[in-house]
Amino acid sequence: KKITIAIDGFSSTGKSTVAKQLADWLEYVYVDSGAMYRAVTLYAMQQGLISEDHFDVDKLKGALNDITLEFRKNESGKAEIYLNGENVERAIRTLEVSEFVSPVSTISEVRAKLVEQQQQLGKGKGVVMDGRDIGTVVFPQAELKIFLNASARERAQRRYMELTQKGDKVTFEEVLENVTERDHIDSTRADSPLMKATDAIEIDNSEMNLEDQFHTILQLAKD
Ligand code: C5P
Repeated sequence: KKITIAIDGFSSTGKSTVAKQLADWLEYVYVDSGAMYRAVTLYAMQQGLISEDHFDVDKLKGALNDITLEFRKNESGKAEIYLNGENVERAIRTLEVSEFVSPVSTISEVRAKLVEQQQQLGKGKGVVMDGRDIGTVVFPQAELKIFLNASARERAQRRYMELTQKGDKVTFEEVLENVTERDHIDSTRADSPLMKATDAIEIDNSEMNLEDQFHTILQLAKD
């Protein structure tokens, strides 16, 4: 039987890595919900609606119908996100987008639009989706819910490696600050998307390697 697997947790806990591994192994659809929030944020940046010192929330709300998001597979079968027909898979991974994505994702109209699309993407299929509110809001009926966690330093270290490998000129301190700041926004606001579903299984992977983590979750999916 094909099931729905929801993987939630703080940023840079390795959700997408394990979610992709599971989807490949099980031949399920993988959906990176964070990429959708990032793409909306990139759109807002491109349109000049958000910058260090201003955020035109109303204009962004008014422009939501002009934003079309799609996932298309590249030659190696990896799903990549398209914003109004343009591949933005790389462009959404900058530290700048990471800085603006939390405020953009607090807008309830943005969330409503993306949650509805996420539900459509998973309808009637085996799906692995990662994000913040997948087990609570998008698929409250998911058969398996995982809540991933790791220490902030460990997560900043992973993110720092990722960014510098791509050639981004960032310091570890900047990355740690961004991770802590996003944790703060994501976990303290009243309508925070980041909540652990009561029936989610929490896994702290600070000291786990990818293989152990994959096998642990795969076993849970089979049970
Ligand atoms: O997973 P990722 O770090 O790429 O997500 C980027 C941001 O998008 C998160 O920090 C969070 O603010 C937002 N997000 C969300 N709900 C989701 C997925 C991501 O609010 N389901």
